[in-house]
Amino acid sequence: MVERMLQFVSVPQEMPQKRDADARRRDFAEIYKNFALKQAERQASRCSQCGVPFCSVHCPLGNNIPDWLMLTAEGRLEEAYAVSSATNSFPEICGRVCPQDRLCEGNCVIQKGFESVTIGAVEKFVTENAFAEGWVKPRLPRVELAQSVAIIGAGPAGLAAAERLRARGYQVHVYDRHDRIGGLLVYGIPSFKLEKDIIARRHDLLVRQGIQFHLKTEIGEGEGRISFAALRDQHDAVFIATGVYQSRDIALPGAARAGVIQALAYLTESNKRGYHDVPDTETTLHARDRRVVVIGGGDTAMDCVRTAIRQGAASVTCLYRRDRVNMPGSAQEVRNAEEEGVTFSWLTTPVEFIGAQQIEAIKVQAMRLGGIGPTGRRDVEPVPGDVQQIQADLVILALGFEPEDLRADWRVPELGVTHWGTVQTRPGQYETNLEGIFAGGDIVRGASLVVWAIRDGQEAAESMHAYLKARDAAESHAAAAMMKKRRVGE
Ligand SMILES: Cc1cc2nc3c(=O)[nH]c(=O)nc-3n(C[C@H](O)[C@H](O)[C@H](O)COP(=O)(O)OP(=O)(O)OC[C@H]3O[C@@H](n4cnc5c(N)ncnc54)[C@H](O)[C@@H]3O)c2cc1C
Ligand code: SF4
Repeated sequence: MVERMLQFVSVPQEMPQKRDADARRRDFAEIYKNFALKQAERQASRCSQCGVPFCSVHCPLGNNIPDWLMLTAEGRLEEAYAVSSATNSFPEICGRVCPQDRLCEGNCVIQKGFESVTIGAVEKFVTENAFAEGWVKPRLPRVELAQSVAIIGAGPAGLAAAERLRARGYQVHVYDRHDRIGGLLVYGIPSFKLEKDIIARRHDLLVRQGIQFHLKTEIGEGEGRISFAALRDQHDAVFIATGVYQSRDIALPGAARAGVIQALAYLTESNKRGYHDVPDTETTLHARDRRVVVIGGGDTAMDCVRTAIRQGAASVTCLYRRDRVNMPGSAQEVRNAEEEGVTFSWLTTPVEFIGAQQIEAIKVQAMRLGGIGPTGRRDVEPVPGDVQQIQADLVILALGFEPEDLRADWRVPELGVTHWGTVQTRPGQYETNLEGIFAGGDIVRGASLVVWAIRDGQEAAESMHAYLKARDAAESHAAAAMMKKRRVGE
């Protein structure tokens, strides 16, 4: 083993080939190509097989990374896939969208002196190879159980829970208000990070596994919806995985001008254009020939600026009130955006939106860094007198998301929620204060990451299984006691 591994001293880090920035600007295809076999083997062989693998420790799924890297280096690709998929329901998705620089790769031990192992790219290679070889099969249940579960939300949390519960034999029904599964994987994250046929391929496997999807079906009150109470009556347990969709607004003069729009509305429509669901004549949420300004410094802002470039914007500027070092988004995404032609205006915050009806310009205030704030990032304060104006025809607000008010929307005032409005669960158990109702993903954590949603779905499935088993045993016991009582009475 050792001969094949520990090659980080002689083998330099190599990333999969990145498409040329000019070509990237013209389409929405993924920007990274896949590793070739030899390249994946060589890159996997750089791993030093640490006794305490910090990559795994910092992976929310606890993926057994050193083992599947070693199997890849040895050319044992089917086993590598088996190990990688044992802890991750959707490794093809994590290989593409996980911020590895903040998780596994960011904690890779060889970074001290060398560059990290390219874990994400090898994970993508192993999974794509497994699909190509026909090794990825639906996890069919060994027994069919009579109990049924409802999962509200077909995002990564809901889908991971569905996959695990169905494998145990439960009758799994997934409800989603959208016409496609995937949640933000489909209608938030753009195709240049995650192409849509990756989700369609997974959808097919989940259907073949026996999961029943009820799409275009919203849970809530009102015509055409299924009420939460009715859903609860129909199923033995419910998993709430509805994500967070209320966009944070900005309370500035002129914010109601036409052309000041929310990031998710913009990205959702762009993703729908990719499916040809939106006609080309519809241009309200389109950047073509417009001077676009995106406000925010997270990954959603990066997705907006890069989408606007691809839509043919006249110019794209990102305004962020802190500097590059203190922004929450991934450094790699900033580099990709810069290569594609985005201008970043660091330490800048908007103070007024200007225009008669339609937005024409933004008044912006220069900022400077202050001390460390409560979140661990540097605070900012205005630079007195440094105010300028930037021309803009389209302003996209990417300021984060809050949970919707499920208690009011679903008429369940008794559902426990936190101070921030997220659903409250018993730590590690995913159970809410209502019997048989579980929750996970962004609706519990607040806006987070795909990998955390998958972990929540997988772990919630285990909690739901324990609950359903106990409930089944209690019901059987009660039925037996009733029979006995009857017999004694006869
Ligand atoms: C633009 C953008 C880019 C992102 N990029 C990345 C990235 O690169 N990497 C990363 O790790 N994370 C990224 N994230 C975060 C990631 O997408 C989320 O953390 C993750 O999708 C949360 O999963 P979830 O299953 O909890 O919710 P969601 O993915 O939001 O899915 C929730 C589902 O519930 C459905 N739903 C909601 N209410 C109802 C209802 N009443 N009835 C029926 N259905 C309902 C919704 O339609 C949706 O399909 C990004 C987020 C955004 C917004
Ligand atoms: S931390 Fe890096 S070198 Fe160590 S086991 Fe993980 S991938 Fe290999």
